[in-house]
Amino acid sequence: MSANSASKVDLAVLGGGIVGLSVAWRASLSGMSVVLLERDELGGGATHVAAGMLAPVAEVEFGEVGRRVLELGVRSVGMWPDFAQELELASGIDVGLCRTGTLVVARDDDEARELERQLAFRDSLGLRALRLRASEAREREPALASTVRLALEAPDDHSVDPRRVVAALRRACELEGVLIREHTHVHALELEADTKRVVGVRVSQQRAGAVEAGGVLDGDVLEDGACESIYAGDVVVAVGAWSGGLGGLPEGARVPVRPVKGQIMRLRDPAGPGLLQRVLRFEGGYLVPRGDGGYVLGATMEERGFEPCATAGGVYELLRDGHELVPGISELRIEELGVGYRPGTPDNAPVIGPGALKGLTWATGHHRNGILLAPLTAELVTRSLLGDEIEHEPISSS
Ligand SMILES: Cc1cc2nc3c(=O)[nH]c(=O)nc-3n(C[C@H](O)[C@H](O)[C@H](O)COP(=O)(O)OP(=O)(O)OC[C@H]3O[C@@H](n4cnc5c(N)ncnc54)[C@H](O)[C@@H]3O)c2cc1C
Repeated sequence: MSANSASKVDLAVLGGGIVGLSVAWRASLSGMSVVLLERDELGGGATHVAAGMLAPVAEVEFGEVGRRVLELGVRSVGMWPDFAQELELASGIDVGLCRTGTLVVARDDDEARELERQLAFRDSLGLRALRLRASEAREREPALASTVRLALEAPDDHSVDPRRVVAALRRACELEGVLIREHTHVHALELEADTKRVVGVRVSQQRAGAVEAGGVLDGDVLEDGACESIYAGDVVVAVGAWSGGLGGLPEGARVPVRPVKGQIMRLRDPAGPGLLQRVLRFEGGYLVPRGDGGYVLGATMEERGFEPCATAGGVYELLRDGHELVPGISELRIEELGVGYRPGTPDNAPVIGPGALKGLTWATGHHRNGILLAPLTAELVTRSLLGDEIEHEPISSS
């Protein structure tokens, strides 16, 4: 399949993060011809740095939006085991689903009081969250510091390795015939003048290397900077934190999305796995075991736009808090320090579903939960593209 000015596909998916890839895979399984357009390399955005927690119970926040995100999260976490299994079967790649649950711990009396409130809140919502005394928490995780006061166990909050998921989705998409075009920058949506219907996108190739089902496309590779149009029956916007900046949309048809910066570290235990079994969460951060001796320590939450650098202060806070709870992390090796941008809408709820213009569907604004919400987003978007009414209309945030 080719997707250039001379041809038209059923669906163009913009953005090759976990959301765009999941949508492309699901849509192609339902019989659509799909092109996926990614300006860099697949999975290089927020998905690349994400810790991979699938944690609706630990994440739930007070308020109306919190409940809505919880409802989406609970549905999606329930879909993950089948999604992972199907993806692994299709791709032959293990996605690192770890079903060991999550511990949220309190370090002092103030945090313990807050954790009691959080336990009561989860209880009122009917969520499975167990109250553990400090000794019970340390029985489960002996590496915890003796200063821990109280813990909440969320046995149904799991984790996955987002980088493996991307590798598996790439393979599964290729096998389904999705045309993957990396280094293809989408500048603007193209609208039909009379109907204001989105009919395609305007792109430029950043450098050679458009990949189709494992091979290289001939004839479609453009010179740096040259523009072409790609026409599609539907366009799904899944460009994460960059979703607010796409050209060609009238003001009222935009969804405002801002980047929420996160600094995060990857650590490795030279002695192998075993320091921690469960995801550990605490005020201001978390430590996620990968099951192979790798750990992810995260993450800052910063409203600083697209500021690309890690800072001494950010790294200090992560290590200080992590070490206070699990002193053994001082023996781990630092493998990587990463910065990523969570896509945040004004109310931090995702925008999933048809936009204000015909032919345009949003799959963005997943903020802290894009890994968790990928299976559900792919299902909702695909059903919507096939003509079903979906329950979650996009919010026209202002
Ligand atoms: C530090 C950190 C930790 C996180 N931890 C978790 C976690 O534990 N669990 C969880 O559920 N979520 C987590 N998240 C959130 C999660 O990473 C995001 O919600 C999710 O990755 C969003 O996926 P996406 O595909 O929408 O965006 P992205 O992964 O950012 O992908 C968007 C893609 O669009 C491409 N793009 C942008 N503009 C254009 C354009 N004009 N043309 C073509 N392509 C374009 C980008 O290059 C990028 O590849 C974390 C985020 C951060 C920053």
